Amino acid sequence: MKLLEERILKDGIVLGDNVLKVDNFLNHQIDPVLMQQLGDEFARYFADKKITKILTVETSGIVPAVFTGLALGVKVVFARKQKSLTMKDNLYSATVYSFTKDVTNEITISKQYLDENDTVLIIDDFLANGQATNGLMEICNQAGAEIAGVGIVIEKSFQKGRKILEEQGMDVYSLARIKAFENGTVQFIEE
Ligand code: 5GP
Repeated sequence: MKLLEERILKDGIVLGDNVLKVDNFLNHQIDPVLMQQLGDEFARYFADKKITKILTVETSGIVPAVFTGLALGVKVVFARKQKSLTMKDNLYSATVYSFTKDVTNEITISKQYLDENDTVLIIDDFLANGQATNGLMEICNQAGAEIAGVGIVIEKSFQKGRKILEEQGMDVYSLARIKAFENGTVQFIEE
């Protein structure tokens, strides 16, 4: 998506060999006008999949997920990284290693909000090694829900996430695909 690539070039900051900081529009300050355009694009791509629910993981997946839910007219559920005191039982859970924070979290979703009648679209801000998405897929499997596909805002294609998801037959639609970071600049895959 040209608009997103231009914004990454303008406001993204490359940290070290493999991390992109996009606090200017996605991970800290949020640009709702851009987010709405991303949500509309996910909705267009997955329009014929009969999605009944969007699933993401807190925190940074929530904004693109909500705009996609708005465009598709379906509810959005986010997995929690810390168990809430009001959410003790009846949980689906999966273990997820966080690439950027170097911690392992148990992510949980209440059984109340996902079941075998759902067709799920998974949305996340970044795809690196596929851990977060895999955790959400595991939760869908526990619920018996169908997974229609995965929508990613920024994919780092030089990491192994896409390969892992495609090996499991997933339709992965990423709005920006990064081939490499070269001398602190972002190189995209030409579509
Ligand atoms: P994965 O689970 O695919 O290994 O990593 C994806 C998760 O890690 C995303 O939910 C995102 O929060 C975080 N992440 C991975 N790589 C980056 C990055 O380069 N920049 C930022 N801001 N977050 C990242």
